[in-house]
Amino acid sequence: MTVFEHKGKLLIVDCGVLFPEETQPGINVILPDFSSIRDRLQDIEAIVLTHGHEDHIGGVPYLLRERKDIPIIGSKLTLAFVTAKLEEHRITPRLIEVKEGQRRKAGPFDLEFLAVNHSIPDGLAVAIRTEAGLVLVTGDFKMDQFPLDNRLTDLPGFARLGEEGVDLFMTDSTNAEVPGFTVTEEDIRPAIDAVFRTAPRRIIVSSFASHVHRIQQVIDAAARHNRKVAFVGRSMVRNMGIAEKLGFLQVPKGLIVDVKAFDRMKDDKVVLICTGSQGEPMAALARMANREHVIKIGEGDTVLLASSLIPGNENSIYRVINGLTRWGANVVHKGNAKVHVSGHASAGELVYCYNIVKPKNVIPYHGEWRHLKANADLAIRTGIPEDQVLIVEDGVVVDLVDGLAKVTGRVAAELVFVHGMTVGGGGSEEALADRVQLANDGAVTILGILDTRTGLLTEPVEFIARGFVQDNEWIQGATKSIDDALRAANKVKIVNGAELEDIFTQSLTRWMQRKYRRIPVITSVVVDA
Ligand SMILES: [Zn+2]
Repeated sequence: MTVFEHKGKLLIVDCGVLFPEETQPGINVILPDFSSIRDRLQDIEAIVLTHGHEDHIGGVPYLLRERKDIPIIGSKLTLAFVTAKLEEHRITPRLIEVKEGQRRKAGPFDLEFLAVNHSIPDGLAVAIRTEAGLVLVTGDFKMDQFPLDNRLTDLPGFARLGEEGVDLFMTDSTNAEVPGFTVTEEDIRPAIDAVFRTAPRRIIVSSFASHVHRIQQVIDAAARHNRKVAFVGRSMVRNMGIAEKLGFLQVPKGLIVDVKAFDRMKDDKVVLICTGSQGEPMAALARMANREHVIKIGEGDTVLLASSLIPGNENSIYRVINGLTRWGANVVHKGNAKVHVSGHASAGELVYCYNIVKPKNVIPYHGEWRHLKANADLAIRTGIPEDQVLIVEDGVVVDLVDGLAKVTGRVAAELVFVHGMTVGGGGSEEALADRVQLANDGAVTILGILDTRTGLLTEPVEFIARGFVQDNEWIQGATKSIDDALRAANKVKIVNGAELEDIFTQSLTRWMQRKYRRIPVITSVVVDA
């Protein structure tokens, strides 16, 4: 989420989510921190969405919960995807549909939209003109010269803006470390065809539910090889329905069937398209790998993972591939066939853009730190002064004044966790820390019964452990550490229950740290006799 401010008004560009890593157990998604704009919701003129990927639209329902009528500006497909998402949250949005080539005002922001090509159709870059200067935000993009929809990234538009004078250029950094140019989507057609030509039985394709062009390739191949197609998975069925209805997906009549019809059809006449290409445990593909799905994978089935392998998901994906191959499937993926191309511009494309946009200032954005750094280095190599290339983290405030961009401050930008129905709230960082500690070291509860007159326990403390192995040595050592601490405290004064709970927790923590070098989550409960 990027927030622009001019004359006291705000413009938000994209509002996405992050997905949790293995170190963040129990988290569904991670939201941007709205706290710095929470007091200024009425100043927001609009949210501009560059494209329909989760990491650009996933946070919108949560922002709209805070103010429902913020206008959302985006292309037809982007708005359709975000509307479907908002329906699940029972929110009816205020939508403003725009197309490439259009200009429109949002308060003091004069917006112009330019076509960009990406791994989802209908992406837009946005140029923002204000009295402070002209900012060009690319969104996610690449420069595929043979896109399936013939909708090219608007390089003439980029060049025209460059002539006008771009004061700040914010550009996709994801593939800045990759030399050369990202190859065209068309290039993977032969590999997909080879799969269809040689697969002896069923073909199961897994891809992102938003990658309309990749699914189009599979549908085209199915039509060429006389196979019927069924979609499986809620997001896949929903998104492909939307894409077809809006004309972004061309489906020959009669090609799509319900998966139930597969029972009556020959195995070499069907293709199943599902989600789960990132190894998500609840998705159809992982359930097939575990034999928990109605589709029972068997000898001769071919599984095609027509997708990227997002860093961090490797273990889950390989677990799924192992499961599928164990049941006899032949698994084709980007590691053994050319069945995926990236949706992001490589270094060559980024340099090309710097040379035609000729920006005064650059903020490399969208990527991890190493990607931002690589993108910054490219900008500097094209002659942009080093001081005018700003690598900034979430929360950093940049001012654009008199054609000069400068870091001038910082606002709160915590990770806001969504777990189940709970969004953020106090202590969500601590709750996650507890969860990791529970996973690593388990939990121990100490129970004591106190005689308030003497300050002594009426009987030895009891320990209740979870996810933690107690042996006799541990119980003896733990009991002794508690007894010692109680005696030491009573030398000074008679203690009460609440004090005693603290003493128990602290002494057991110290003892375990010393002896075992690990600390479970320790809770003490003391009741009066
Ligand atoms: Zn994207």
